[in-house]
Amino acid sequence: MALRLHDSLTRTSRELRRPDPADPQDVFTFYNCGPTVYAAAHIGNFRTFVINDVLRRLLELEFGAAKVKHVRNLTDVDDRTIGQAKKEQRPLAEITQKWTAKFHADCDALNCLRPHVEPTATGHIKEQVNMIEVLMAKGNAYRGADGSVYFKLQSFPDYGALSRIKDRELKITDASADSDHKDSVSDFALWKAYKPEEDGDVKWPGPKGAGEGRPGWHIECSAMIKKHLGDTIDLHTGGVDLLFPHHENEIAQSNCCNGVTFARHWYHSEHLLVDGTSMSKSKGNFYTLSDLVEKGYSAAAVRYALLAGHPRKQLNFTLDSLHAAESALKSLNDLYENLRHVTFADYADSPSDRFQPVFSALREDLNTPTALGALFSIRADIERTMKGQPGKQITKGDLIALEKVLFAFGFVLEKTPVPKLAATQNITTLAEQRWAAKQAKDFAPADKLRADLTAAGWSMLDRKDGYSLEPLKNN
Ligand code: AMP
Ligand code: ZN
Repeated sequence: MALRLHDSLTRTSRELRRPDPADPQDVFTFYNCGPTVYAAAHIGNFRTFVINDVLRRLLELEFGAAKVKHVRNLTDVDDRTIGQAKKEQRPLAEITQKWTAKFHADCDALNCLRPHVEPTATGHIKEQVNMIEVLMAKGNAYRGADGSVYFKLQSFPDYGALSRIKDRELKITDASADSDHKDSVSDFALWKAYKPEEDGDVKWPGPKGAGEGRPGWHIECSAMIKKHLGDTIDLHTGGVDLLFPHHENEIAQSNCCNGVTFARHWYHSEHLLVDGTSMSKSKGNFYTLSDLVEKGYSAAAVRYALLAGHPRKQLNFTLDSLHAAESALKSLNDLYENLRHVTFADYADSPSDRFQPVFSALREDLNTPTALGALFSIRADIERTMKGQPGKQITKGDLIALEKVLFAFGFVLEKTPVPKLAATQNITTLAEQRWAAKQAKDFAPADKLRADLTAAGWSMLDRKDGYSLEPLKNN
């Protein structure tokens, strides 16, 4: 079954695939807009990053870990970061480094895989300036009276395709409407001219024909994607608030600069709410991960709670949902422990299909709540069988499949060591004799020795270079 995901551009569920699986060089390219590092990210932000982490994990399961390239940026220069540096009277880099470190620590606590590349806006000024110069040369951008550079919206007739903004309220306004050095109010800044009173010492030399200043927010992603993933990427994601204008503007910039489709697939996840309104810094209605850990909740429970609702539906956050998450994780832990302590009669080294309904739900538009529902009903089946009630036999493949499920969700469960039965001298001697007989191709005595071992409760697992001894179930 294919991995399918809602595409915000076509508003349909579409299969995610590598463009050319026959090409060994070809990787699936995935870009997720990252955080603005001026304060601790709240758990609303982390809802988006955790959902994207599950997506990354599913892509790895689908295409192989080496065939997925995941890039997520750090916005380390914009109004908010500059504003915070000014407020604290500290250098911009000191502020952004501090909050980048906190972001990384929280991501690690939430068990999010690190992206393969995590580029910063300040580390890519040259790339952004180059892109702006191309856009100016092509007539898609112009220098405003204030020395800033603006994207000329009218130069890109497809503007609005992602957000259907034209159908809604945006009218491409005429030049006379300008009050801000732009030809048209809907034109947006690619380069912001230096304003000493606002920007302090934050400035770089601008594109040819423009003054000193700093890049606008949208160009950052376009330039970093071009550099690290190429002109066309397979998947671009972010929270729903980024759809307009951020992603619409990214499409305009990249399309006009590169002349090719920017992203093959767009995915936007919905917000985390508190009391019916979106969790946000500006509203002050937010929890950070540290707030919740201080209250005694685990980061694992926060991760679970953030995945408990459908990613494309708003999710109301409550402390009760964390209580529920803690107990759900406890049940999963019990299941995992029980399975790990079974001595299996089989030696599967690949997953069974027992957890297929979980993967089916995840693969159909990342339906995490349905997947969790399926996981708990399978858990109930397994527990019944373990209590001796009739049911599908439990195999080593089930344990392997459960571990795959845990990887997909990014749940890390505690493990107590499984005590291993030590083979007696007598058993090891039998095994040695059997191995020697097998090497000498004396198959009849080898078979007889294997039968003796089985009767004694041991199984011998042959490999090319040797063997291992495993106790049989009930031994
Ligand atoms: P920011 O640090 O503000 O640039 O946001 C980082 C990411 O968090 C973006 O993808 C936003 O769309 C996302 N985001 C912001 N607020 C929320 C929220 N309440 N729930 C879920 N995601 C959010
Ligand atoms: Zn972006």
